Amino acid sequence: MKLDVTLALKSQGLPVAFSCQTTMPELTVGSEQVRFSGPVTLQGEYLFTGDEFWVSGALHASYEAVCGRCLEPFSAKLELPFREEFARTPGEEEKERYLFEGDLMDLQPMVDDLLVLNIPLRHLCREDCRGLCPVCGANLNKTSCSCSADEEDSAELRNPFSALKALLHDENEEV
Ligand SMILES: [Zn+2]
Ligand SMILES: [Zn+2]
Repeated sequence: MKLDVTLALKSQGLPVAFSCQTTMPELTVGSEQVRFSGPVTLQGEYLFTGDEFWVSGALHASYEAVCGRCLEPFSAKLELPFREEFARTPGEEEKERYLFEGDLMDLQPMVDDLLVLNIPLRHLCREDCRGLCPVCGANLNKTSCSCSADEEDSAELRNPFSALKALLHDENEEV
C-alpha cells in the first residue's frame, strides 16, 4: 500500500486527498487468527510540512468474528480514525513515527499497527446479545427455552439435593 506523494512534495503545506485499499492476509491478534471479509480501505489526506508528512483520515475494515456470548460467527466492522507522522529518517529519541522513501510513502506498517491495536480480543455480535442458556445451551437470540420461563424448575435442576433433603425431612417427621 504505497502512495505516490510527488504532488505533495512539490506543493508544500497543501493537503492532498487520497483513498486506497489493500487486501490483508490473515492477522494474528492475541491468540486468534483474524480473517478479513473484504479489502481494507483508507481515506483521508496528507500534507508535506517541508521535512515530514502528516497523514490523517479513517480506515475501514470488516472481518469474520465469533461472538463471545452466543458463539455465532458474524461480520464485524471497524472504523478507525488516524493521524500519523511520516518522516525520511527515524526520530532521534525513538519517537514513534513511520518512514517514507523518495516519492513513495508506504502506509502498510501503519495499517498493520492500527488493526493489531484495535481489533478487540472479545467480540459481541450486538450490544444486547442474549447469549446461550447456561442450563440447556440454547441460543437465546433465536429461541426461548423453558429453563428461563420457569425459574423454580431450573433452580431444582441445578440443585438436585433440595428435593432429596425435602424427602428426608418428611421421613424424620414421621419418626
Ligand atoms: Zn452474540
Ligand atoms: Zn435453557
